[in-house]
Amino acid sequence: MATYHRATAGTTLVGRLAHDGDLLGELTAVAREQDLRLGAVSAIGAVRQARLGFYDQAKRVYDYFVLDRPLEITALVGNVSLKDGAPVIHAHVTLSDETGRAYGGHLAEGCVVFACEFTMTALASDATFARGLDEPTGLPLWSL
Ligand code: ZN
Repeated sequence: MATYHRATAGTTLVGRLAHDGDLLGELTAVAREQDLRLGAVSAIGAVRQARLGFYDQAKRVYDYFVLDRPLEITALVGNVSLKDGAPVIHAHVTLSDETGRAYGGHLAEGCVVFACEFTMTALASDATFARGLDEPTGLPLWSL
């Protein structure tokens, strides 16, 4: 059964990331500058290279892979919440190449921005969405 809480949308930030910045790092910096404790993030654009993660459910560790070439960010979807008291971004991204082939995964540090337009919406809720260890998965999921 799903666990969820009602949240109210507040301020929405709309902006552009710096060229050659780290995609995850830049988004995290915006969330921290704005002290965003709960939010939703989306983005489109392009990267010079990418590094994505895939969670090995049996080993309970992330495996990372690098795509060392220009790719379109066809979709980046994620959320903002607190981990160890600081805002963190958890996002997944789909990237495409010149043939339209798509790659996807867990957004990791190492994606170099060519261009990126993002939208980040602050959410308010009475619930606490801080991340803690979820024993069944080994992941730092929301402790709802
Ligand atoms: Zn993920």
